[in-house]
Order: sequence, then C-alpha cells, then structure tokens
Amino acid sequence: MKYLIIGGVAGGATVAARLRRMDEKAEIILFERGKYVSYANCGLPYYIGDTINDRNKLFVQTVKGFTDRFRIDIRTEQEVTRILPESKQVEVKKLGTGETYTETYDKLVLSPGAEPLRPRIEGIESKKIFTLRNVPDTDTIKNYVNTEKPRTAVVVGGGFIGLEMAENLHELGVHVTVVEMANQVMAPLDYSMAAIVHQQLIGKQVGLMLEDGVSRFEETSRGVTVHLKSGKQIPAAMVSLSVRKPDWPRKRDLRSEHSAVSLSMNICRPRTRIFMRWEMPWKYATS
Ligand SMILES: Cc1cc2nc3c(=O)[nH]c(=O)nc-3n(C[C@H](O)[C@H](O)[C@H](O)COP(=O)(O)OP(=O)(O)OC[C@H]3O[C@@H](n4cnc5c(N)ncnc54)[C@H](O)[C@@H]3O)c2cc1C
Repeated sequence: MKYLIIGGVAGGATVAARLRRMDEKAEIILFERGKYVSYANCGLPYYIGDTINDRNKLFVQTVKGFTDRFRIDIRTEQEVTRILPESKQVEVKKLGTGETYTETYDKLVLSPGAEPLRPRIEGIESKKIFTLRNVPDTDTIKNYVNTEKPRTAVVVGGGFIGLEMAENLHELGVHVTVVEMANQVMAPLDYSMAAIVHQQLIGKQVGLMLEDGVSRFEETSRGVTVHLKSGKQIPAAMVSLSVRKPDWPRKRDLRSEHSAVSLSMNICRPRTRIFMRWEMPWKYATS
C-alpha cells in the first residue's frame, strides 16, 4: 500500500507515525512545503516569551529522526499543487528549483492546516504587524522582540493564540492591549467564564478593549498606531494579529481536477469531521 500525506506537522506527522506502526511494509511519503516537520505549534508563543528558552525543544521530531525511526520518505520544501483523483496522482513542486513531478498513491491523506487571516485593512502590510502560525513566523517575531525591544504591543483578536501572545509579551515586560470585536475574549467560553479571564487580564495591567475593531493601521517611526472603529487610537511598537479562523483548509491550494473533491471548506470539513474520510474511499483528511 502506498500512502501520500500532504502536510507534515500536527496531523500529517501523527498519521505517518501511526501508519508505520500499523503496517511495516507500507510505502509512506510525506510532503511538507515548509522546512520543518512535527513541531509544537502550541509552544511557539512560549518560545517568544522565553518560557521555552531552547528553540530545539519546539521540535518533536526532526526530518532525520523521523526517517530513521519510522522509515518515512519525508520531502520538505515540496508543495503538492494539484490532486488528480482520476489517475490517483498528485502533482508536486520542488520549491527550491521550481521543478514539478507527479507521484501516484493508493491512499491520500490531507493535513494542510490553516493560515492566519490578514483582513484587508488599510496599513495591514506594515512589517511591524505580525501573525504567528509556524516556525519562520516565530523566528521573525522573536528577532523583532530581541532587536527592537518593544515596550508596547497591541494584540488584535482575543482568541487562544491572541491571549497566548498577550501573556508572553506581558511576561517579557511589554505593555499589551488586547482589542477584541466581541463582548468577551475566548469565544467558546460562556460569558461568565470569560469574565474571569477579563479580570485576570485587567489585574495584570493588560489593556482590554472589547466590542471594538480595527478600522486602520498607521505605521509610524516608533511602530504602528492602531485606529479603532470607536475613534480611539493606540500607539504601539508592534501588533500581533491573531484573527485566524481555526483549522480552515486553504481553499486556494490543492485544487483538484474533480470538483467533488476540491479542497473547499464546505466539502472537506463536515464530511471529514465525522468520518475522517471523503466520499472517495482512498482519500482522508485531518486537522
Ligand atoms: C501559535 C499557535 C498555538 C497553538 N496552540 C494550541 C494549543 O495550545 N492547543 C491546541 O490544541 N492547538 C493549538 N494550536 C492549533 C494547532 O497547532 C493546530 O490545530 C494543528 O497544528 C493543526 O494540525 P494540522 O496537521 O491540521 O495542520 P498543521 O500542523 O498546520 O500542518 C499543516 C502543514 O501542511 C503544510 N502544507 C499545507 N499545504 C501544503 C501543500 N499543498 N503541500 C505540502 N505541504 C503543505 C503546511 O506548510 C503546514 O506545515 C496552536 C496553533 C498555533 C499557530
């Protein structure tokens, strides 16, 4: 049996290891467009905040460790650009050279993850506005924090990642303001539970602006001024944008020749959430 796995971090790496444990003889190829596989996304904010002070600790496995232990053919910096379900093939682009090739499969596993949302707001292209999704994003933020030593930051979005960034920047001695459009942080919590988080933030002198959104960003020589819909302005040395919609597969990627299996949210999520399998029996997805 030949398995192809698209995406080599949380879901993809787990599936690869599990498949090997279930079948010693299977051919398993894992494609990852980034440089790294199997790292701890959850640790990234804590590395920025110095709670995790050894960068190597972010990596659950290295490419070599994975290959040696599980005999998996790991192809980093290679992007799957098309799925050809009729011929059970994928098209792959080597990002270093631009060369493309095809690979056949018996079973295909999709774990391409999500990407942070960068809403079209005026000024969003500023280099002082950061999103956090992967190791390169982490290195960029860490480098900025170490060299620019920001004293103020605005975190846009009061979800889990936003709050983790707020916590870690605060730990570094940065004065943080969290801006959240809803009337509470951590949307999945009941308001009464979120209120405890509000109290905690305020108790730590973290600014909390609820029911307010960003109307535009303005880059200045000292950082970014965040203009809110209410008319308030918050000057900051950096902005952490954490308004990602969780776990939405990248629609624009991995276009399939077959419309019924195109990687769109509507098709992928409801069906795979229940069965982890698409309508085609050789195709699986995880997140
Ligand atoms: C900062 C941060 C903190 C988090 N903290 C927590 C936490 O505390 N607890 C928790 O449960 N969850 C947390 N999460 C969420 C968790 O990391 C994700 O839910 C999980 O990583 C999703 O796994 P995945 O395999 O779907 O995608 P990912 O782990 O993102 O892996 C997808 C990989 O696929 C690759 N890829 C995409 N398209 C292609 C392609 N066409 N070809 C080749 N490769 C491709 C991408 O480069 C990416 O590396 C956090 C996430 C972040 C960003």
